[in-house]
Amino acid sequence: MDKKYAKNGKSKAFLKRNMYYIIMGVCILAIGAMITVALLTQDKADPVITDPTPVAEDPTNDPVVNDPVVTNPVTEPPEPIVFTLPSDNDVIKDYEMDTVVWWSTLKLYKVHNGIDFGGTENDSVVAAYAGTVSEVGYDALEGNYVKIDHGDGLTTYYGSLSDPVVVTGQTVDAGTVLGNMSASSTAELLQGPHVHFSVFVDGQVADPYEYFPEGDK
Ligand SMILES: [Zn+2]
Repeated sequence: MDKKYAKNGKSKAFLKRNMYYIIMGVCILAIGAMITVALLTQDKADPVITDPTPVAEDPTNDPVVNDPVVTNPVTEPPEPIVFTLPSDNDVIKDYEMDTVVWWSTLKLYKVHNGIDFGGTENDSVVAAYAGTVSEVGYDALEGNYVKIDHGDGLTTYYGSLSDPVVVTGQTVDAGTVLGNMSASSTAELLQGPHVHFSVFVDGQVADPYEYFPEGDK
């Protein structure tokens, strides 16, 4: 018993004497372990940081996959709108918005927002492009007229007609007969039977020649 006790006492004494070194050792081990963990974590973290780089580069290459999506809408729209002439007859008063022209009936000079095709009351006037008849009416100056909505803000106007043969809401194709030309436009009465053809984009006057096939008129 004494021996055992003595042994324990020795052990306690040893611990007491060397407590400082034991604590230091434990601390060093702990610091060593922390450094090891830190290094291992860094080693692991590095590839994690490196990985996103190729991943980040991939999206740069991805636009190749997106390109067709971007290219398609760009490729599709350039389908030019080409009008059919509302009449094959001669132009008797041309479209002129940059300078004024002589209006024989009104006896004055002013711009002309359309093309007048002359003829007789037997000559028909046709829709220049497919669309929906948005208005059929009579105006004291413009005479009987038809307006066609072609979508996307594009509309065409046919004035100085005889009684139109289409009705509002009717779907028409390019070439559908709208009526005959006449002298119903009092502002252009002296020009005789004709059709006054105008084009509008978002309500603004547009150059009809932009829509006719090249070489036409
Ligand atoms: Zn006119």
